Amino acid sequence: MYYRPIAFGYMGNINNRCERKKKMKMTQTQFDLIKEQLIKLTGKDCFYKRKLEGIDVNDINTQEDFEKLPFTWKGDLREAYPLGLQAVPDEEIVRIHSSSGTTGTPVIIPYTKQDVEDWAIMFERCYKMAGMTNMDRVHITPGYGLWTAGIGFQLGAERLGAMAIPMGPGNTDKQLKMMIDMKSTVLCATSSYALLLAEEISKRDIGDQIHLKKGIIGSERWGEKMRKRIAAELGVKLYDIYGLTEVYGPGIGMSCDCECGMHIWDDYIYLEIIDPKTGKNVSDGEIGEIVITTLRKQGAPLIRYRTHDLSRIIPGDCACGSKYPRIDTILGRTDDMVKVKGVNIFPSQIDEMLSMIDGASSEYQFMIDHMNGKDICTLFVELDVNTDKKEMAKKIGEGFKAKIGILANIMPVAIGELPRSEKKSTRIFDNRY
Ligand SMILES: [Zn+2]
Repeated sequence: MYYRPIAFGYMGNINNRCERKKKMKMTQTQFDLIKEQLIKLTGKDCFYKRKLEGIDVNDINTQEDFEKLPFTWKGDLREAYPLGLQAVPDEEIVRIHSSSGTTGTPVIIPYTKQDVEDWAIMFERCYKMAGMTNMDRVHITPGYGLWTAGIGFQLGAERLGAMAIPMGPGNTDKQLKMMIDMKSTVLCATSSYALLLAEEISKRDIGDQIHLKKGIIGSERWGEKMRKRIAAELGVKLYDIYGLTEVYGPGIGMSCDCECGMHIWDDYIYLEIIDPKTGKNVSDGEIGEIVITTLRKQGAPLIRYRTHDLSRIIPGDCACGSKYPRIDTILGRTDDMVKVKGVNIFPSQIDEMLSMIDGASSEYQFMIDHMNGKDICTLFVELDVNTDKKEMAKKIGEGFKAKIGILANIMPVAIGELPRSEKKSTRIFDNRY
């Protein structure tokens, strides 16, 4: 059973109907680690000494005090380029990673030996949560290099004792040949690349030569329909893995067999959910932006880092028995949230709407243009073969109006017409500004 995210549209007050408001409690151990880190960081010339100037860390004695500390933004990290985040002497740094610089100056994250080891420990824990053993053969398609993805998947596999197959992205022919010849049992990929490979396997009718049992899918937001297609076409059980370059990389959280959110390794990470507009912490269960504080990181510790990822804490214990707290699968990015005619629209709303309509695929693009003083919305959707385009456009248009509350032009296209990407796909294009 997969946990369905609750409906959007009530950002910030979803739980008003609930009588009790509860917030995940910072444990004493977490508090002690944070306090120790704050004392250390403000005691030497570094990024956080400047960032927290004017704040006496001795005044921080409760979770509430901590929640008053300023946020760290991606912009702060960019300004620290190249090595302004480094919090330990040069001789302790063993490598760097970098987030992509496609939207500006990249962010450089330095790692100590301990940071690399901690990351491997967390990643191994992710693989174990997916039931993987040292007998698995792990086909790794995320990119290697400055980006944290490929190398993180590799670290975890080696620590587990499994066989890492370090493919990196691209070259579908070679991917499929290696997957067959090496008898890969686990595929690590972004959701869009997993879909691309799944479609290719089905097109070439080579499913009987594929030995995959599990798919570990990177933290790209993806809908239920896409999940079902990948799982069905590859014949695998899928797991979501969470992470970001600024905080180790992928591997700080992982879904379990119960498929009801991702467990977060709260002995390494303190996670908060805030209202992205007001910056206030929200109650468990409410959707908001994930904010992360590292508890043990040495090379580049982060305090209250705003990830721009939207999710929520899932209250209560998981049926799998793990005591690690859970967040929902990533529901979108705060920057993906667009406002049209006074309505907030998230990609996951469109995912959910399409998943209810038979014949509509999981692939779409949503465009907003400004013409003659009006905002015009257009939704391109891939349709399954043997569907009536006109009839489907009408059905999807009605679904869109009912779910989102505004009208959109529906443009049906054939399966495979919209771009697939090896990295993360963009689905909402705001051409108004
Ligand atoms: Zn669980």
